[in-house]
Amino acid sequence: MIEENYDKILDRISRVSGLEKEELERMVEAKRAKLAGLISKEGAAQVVAAELGISFGEEKLKINELLSGMRKVNVVGKIIQLFPVRTFTKNEKEGKVLNFVLADETSNVRVVLWDVNHIALIENSEIKQDSVVEIVNASMRDNEIHLGSFSDLKLSKEILEDVKTEKIVREKKIVEFRLQDSVSTRAFVVQSFEPRFFYVCPECKKKAIPEGENHVCVEHGKVIPEKRALINLVLDDGTETIRSVLFHEQLSKIGFTDLENTEETLKQKQALLGKEMIFSGNIRNNKFFNNPEFIVDDAKEVDLDALISGLEKASDL
Ligand SMILES: [Zn+2]
Repeated sequence: MIEENYDKILDRISRVSGLEKEELERMVEAKRAKLAGLISKEGAAQVVAAELGISFGEEKLKINELLSGMRKVNVVGKIIQLFPVRTFTKNEKEGKVLNFVLADETSNVRVVLWDVNHIALIENSEIKQDSVVEIVNASMRDNEIHLGSFSDLKLSKEILEDVKTEKIVREKKIVEFRLQDSVSTRAFVVQSFEPRFFYVCPECKKKAIPEGENHVCVEHGKVIPEKRALINLVLDDGTETIRSVLFHEQLSKIGFTDLENTEETLKQKQALLGKEMIFSGNIRNNKFFNNPEFIVDDAKEVDLDALISGLEKASDL
């Protein structure tokens, strides 16, 4: 991950300065040697950029060039998803926050507005779904663009076609999970609950509600339902724990074979405790508990070989 950031910084310095990347790399190494290695490669690259008179402050970046921790971020993109305004109370004051997803041809990213003036632009429909907007002087926090009162949000005249709308699944620590995120994380199962069963309509797969001896779908009326299962887990990656839910199709991936066989299920449930896997899915608000919940849509074994070769690669640097 760090290597990727470093590479992106070099690419940008190279693009702006016209110097070859190899040359820049030599300059970065020389800078690090001079500072007795007390500075990271990324830090040294930024010092080199500053010495070359390159300021990233004015430059517009592509979304796939944004890095966590960046300040003075300028970017243009199309709003591909707009979420409702949420209100919160902090220090007895009421605040507002609004999120949208911004896309360009390279990627997409969540944008968080904290300033009432920016939020008003959307509330009064000056800026709306599919608007192309320019963001100036924002900052990157947890892979999101945050706009405060010093930032600027305005309509752009740029025309963006073919923006990247597919969800970008980000590797995150559980402590960094935010509502609506699509994430992947490596975590341990620390609690596993009894499977729960429910019924769905065979047509639309929505919940079928028991009514006397029958089941009823809101849309399709009286139906012969399909029986489905779900299991709640608590996952822990050392930074935080999160209540998670896996539905029917995912259960075989975590080792359940036959949920009707309670004895087997109990054994498989025990075997799951302490198991480490890579889970991916979405973060939703559980309305009942009013807590974030991880809806897992894939669970994979940890590929140790890939991890080790990744670590070896990183230590070569
Ligand atoms: Zn139905």
